[in-house]
Amino acid sequence: MVTLEQIQDFKGKYPKQIWSLFFSEMWERFCFYGMRGMLVFFMIHQLNLAETEANLQYGATQAFVYAFTFVGGLFADKILGFRKSLFWGGLLMIVGSLILAADPHKFFFLGIAFTVVGTGFFKPNISTMVGKLYKKGDSRTDAGFSLFYAGINLGALLGGYLCIAIGKGEMFADAIPEALRWNVAFGLAAIVMVISLINFVFTQRSLGPIGLQPQMIKVDGTYQPIEKWKEYGVYALTLVFVPLIMTMVAKTEYTDYFMWTIGPLTLIYLFYEMSKVNSADRKKLFAALVFIIFSILFWGIYEQSGGSLSIFAAKNLNKDLLGLDPNGVNNSAGAFFIIFLAPVLGLLWIWLSKKRIEPNTIIKFGLGFIFLGLGYYVLFGTRLFADLQGVTSLNIFTIALLVITLGELCLSPIGLSIMTKLSTEKLQGMMMGLWFLASAYGQYVAGIIGANMATAKEGSTNYDALIAYTDGYKQLGLYAVIAGVLLILISPLVKKLMQEVK
Ligand code: GLN
Repeated sequence: MVTLEQIQDFKGKYPKQIWSLFFSEMWERFCFYGMRGMLVFFMIHQLNLAETEANLQYGATQAFVYAFTFVGGLFADKILGFRKSLFWGGLLMIVGSLILAADPHKFFFLGIAFTVVGTGFFKPNISTMVGKLYKKGDSRTDAGFSLFYAGINLGALLGGYLCIAIGKGEMFADAIPEALRWNVAFGLAAIVMVISLINFVFTQRSLGPIGLQPQMIKVDGTYQPIEKWKEYGVYALTLVFVPLIMTMVAKTEYTDYFMWTIGPLTLIYLFYEMSKVNSADRKKLFAALVFIIFSILFWGIYEQSGGSLSIFAAKNLNKDLLGLDPNGVNNSAGAFFIIFLAPVLGLLWIWLSKKRIEPNTIIKFGLGFIFLGLGYYVLFGTRLFADLQGVTSLNIFTIALLVITLGELCLSPIGLSIMTKLSTEKLQGMMMGLWFLASAYGQYVAGIIGANMATAKEGSTNYDALIAYTDGYKQLGLYAVIAGVLLILISPLVKKLMQEVK
């Protein structure tokens, strides 16, 4: 078996195992974003739910998905290890998509619930394993995560486009009988997830000890494997969560209770874990918490893309960019830009680090916010190009998405990377889960912000809507820039907490 040292002592820019993890994650994101892209449309047009209800239930699934990453990460640390967690999560995702493929109308919420829990076990743990490919302090780590992030978005783009297009009959309509289109679309998500897991089975051989089950240290210093009943207990418990999630997604008022409880509980638990480590490690975990808390604000602003920006795209944008559909652009331009920009930015980090001028993580985070803010100012600027009907340029809108994406690349992959660097050995999965839990809150906050902007414009003309939305975007841009400047200002303080970590 290859040893950890051999893996981490790689030559060149990237460890070779990163490509295998890249592909497993790419197919998993295909499955995830493929389904996510179908949810609202399917609920409205196939299940005949009202628009608001469908949107609320969509929001609930997103919140639960990211909330479950905490559970998935925690059990990985304590009992399953990253590999078994990932595998179990992948299996649940396959079961979920197969249920949906079999009869999406009848078993919709059951299938979704399986997928939600499965993603919680898969998503955080594969990212943690990427971090394990690097030695502590290896300056190539951020570049690796940037590359991995390109894989995420390649899967997101393909899945997000193909699944809904097949379901709606815009693709392969001649080959697939009309009554079976949705079955095939959900079935495709199942197939790619199988590919992801098969790829992972082969990957395991090259991972050495990375991601194996944790062992308990006995009083006499010897190791003892985790008891089997605990492992099976986790599997059983997971299955208990499925009907619970099914109920909570269907009755969205539960989401509020859930969000208000899970946050404080996880914080209390984190503080309990922090009380058990030495003071140097505690400081690092505290620094990680600063990043996590800021990221909530980032995603709250960023995730307007699925909410208010999609309404804006539908009503206030023309087709001056190659005649493309504005909503299609809004859904996919970000992922498209990332696939090209992520590797470039990764190489830029390596190049800057060779010259010893690579900005540290806090500055990168600060830049992330500043780009996000500038992007929202460009969104505000679209009003300068509007006609009297309140319709404005898709070109300018796309430039805004490009700037926002640059911000995402300074924050999101770097966030994954810094979680692996700041966590203690035994809390890696949980901290990665917490990072994604912040995304759950981001989605939640995004919904609230979006809803506020929507009420501001009720009963008014299209032009009024343009003004109301762009005013909102200017406000969000300002908040983002302030957050960025604040981060840069407090960077000496956070740097102290991070100690030797860059
Ligand atoms: N788009 C990224 C992914 O799917 C980041 C998601 C997030 O953290 N909100 O992994």
